[in-house]
Amino acid sequence: MAPVPALLPLSILEAIQNIDTPQDDGLGALEDELASKRLGLSPTVAAQVARYRDQVKSGGEVPDDEALAVFRLVGRRPDAALVYADAGRRAARYAAKRLGTGTRGMIAAAPGRAGVALALRAVARLGRRWLLADVRVSDGRLRCEMPDSLGWRARDDGTGCQFYTAAFAELLRQVGGLEWSVVHELCRGRGDRDCLWRAMRAEGYE
Ligand SMILES: [Zn+2]
Repeated sequence: MAPVPALLPLSILEAIQNIDTPQDDGLGALEDELASKRLGLSPTVAAQVARYRDQVKSGGEVPDDEALAVFRLVGRRPDAALVYADAGRRAARYAAKRLGTGTRGMIAAAPGRAGVALALRAVARLGRRWLLADVRVSDGRLRCEMPDSLGWRARDDGTGCQFYTAAFAELLRQVGGLEWSVVHELCRGRGDRDCLWRAMRAEGYE
């Protein structure tokens, strides 16, 4: 398996930290007790997040089995869908940061449909490079078909697919300011042969 962009496991660990951080309820003693139990508050996770952040700055990569192990940390949790979705949005924001200022400027300057077309191409490129998702532009829409993914391998009931659904929506927002609907139409977790996502303008459903 090819190496994996460090921003993918980083996003998962950051999401775990985010969701495991308790609201300040004034119960300090209880928090101490929780802290020892919650993965997201552990010093080991904090240290790993710091290492991944350094790697992400230089576009670094990690071995596939290491990234999969991080994705699987979420798989056992009852709130896995929530964590994967939060992580997907984070990964999209990291990916969007890799967009060159030239492309960003062109997207912003291009009028209407031309701007949307440029944004979709950029989203597809970023998705393939940084999310390892086979995102393609077809007929003015976005389409991603994957027989295999880190999300799928981490949770074969399709819960891990939430990562990509959330990531594509956020990437469209970050790159093109597009508030599109992303639908996970086919899923191996539901017995389909491949996982398929489609993104389109909300009015495309009429
Ligand atoms: Zn799926």
